[in-house]
Amino acid sequence: LIPSQFEYHAPSTLREATDLLSRYGSEAKVLAGGMSLIPVMKLRLATPHHVIDISRISELEYARLENGRLKIGALCRHSYLEKSKVIIASIPLLSETAKWIGDPQVRNMGTIGGSLVHSDPSGDWGAPILALRGEIRMRSSLSERSVSIDDFLVDTFTSALRTEEILTEIVIPVPSLRSGGTYMKVERRAGDFATVGIAVQLTIDKNSVCTYVGIGLTALGPKSLRARRSEEALLGRKISESAIQEAAEAAAEDSSPLDDPLRGSVEYKRELARVYTRRALKKAIDIATK
Ligand SMILES: Cc1cc2nc3c(=O)[nH]c(=O)nc-3n(C[C@H](O)[C@H](O)[C@H](O)COP(=O)(O)OP(=O)(O)OC[C@H]3O[C@@H](n4cnc5c(N)ncnc54)[C@H](O)[C@@H]3O)c2cc1C
Repeated sequence: LIPSQFEYHAPSTLREATDLLSRYGSEAKVLAGGMSLIPVMKLRLATPHHVIDISRISELEYARLENGRLKIGALCRHSYLEKSKVIIASIPLLSETAKWIGDPQVRNMGTIGGSLVHSDPSGDWGAPILALRGEIRMRSSLSERSVSIDDFLVDTFTSALRTEEILTEIVIPVPSLRSGGTYMKVERRAGDFATVGIAVQLTIDKNSVCTYVGIGLTALGPKSLRARRSEEALLGRKISESAIQEAAEAAAEDSSPLDDPLRGSVEYKRELARVYTRRALKKAIDIATK
């Protein structure tokens, strides 16, 4: 399988990259880790005339704290997010998620920005970024804008990114004290895409009342989903067995997974959603109240 012919560009700054994108528009494709784009090009599902390789733009690879927010450059590799001391100390849910992605080769090449733009409903990044209420920053040669992750993930393999834009940064509010988060993934074998995945981030006050909760679901709908009714079952309420159960039931009811011969039926995946939402909530509560 060989991709169709294209012209290769390797800008070394963001400015050069956005200029190239504005010059070539829909004839161009941005290449980051290439873990998803190269297979798609080999299958000729994408046949760009220009490939703009942004992988050497070092200004897009960082994780830093600023005014109570974690800023992550779009070119951070999954392995970088797994090992970053800043991330482990501020939002461990992110490093935990990174460990679940593919195998070491995929984690060493693939980027968080590429993964979010690719918008695969089975991709692992959407759910935790939804649970953490992340904001996505994009830039073209003329302007810059931000949207919430809820608005960024539009549909299966469809994001809100415009042709002339590059995803530059993910911004996440750092959870307060008494917070806990976890990502649980069910996979057929190590390194596989998710059969289902559940991301939970929550905060509990001294009276056991849930003051923040975010729940994101992987592979349980046409895109990564926010489990809003599950969140409503917990927010502002005292944590109890019945509230957890209500949230787990709502996650299963609001899921719309695909029936697929490899990973299981709709009923099976809904059952996994129920069981794993419950387990993930319990683990996040344990971490928050430790
Ligand atoms: C064997 C294998 C196993 C995998 N397993 C998993 C898994 O378990 N979980 C999981 O979540 N993922 C998995 N993946 C996918 C992997 O995480 C990819 O890294 C990710 O989907 C795409 O990231 P990338 O940097 O390689 O992007 P690329 O492949 O370079 O690009 C993907 C798309 O995003 C666009 N793009 C990339 N970066 C930007 C940017 N900054 N701005 C604008 N557009 C951009 C490209 O134009 C393209 O359309 C796997 C991939 C492989 C090959």
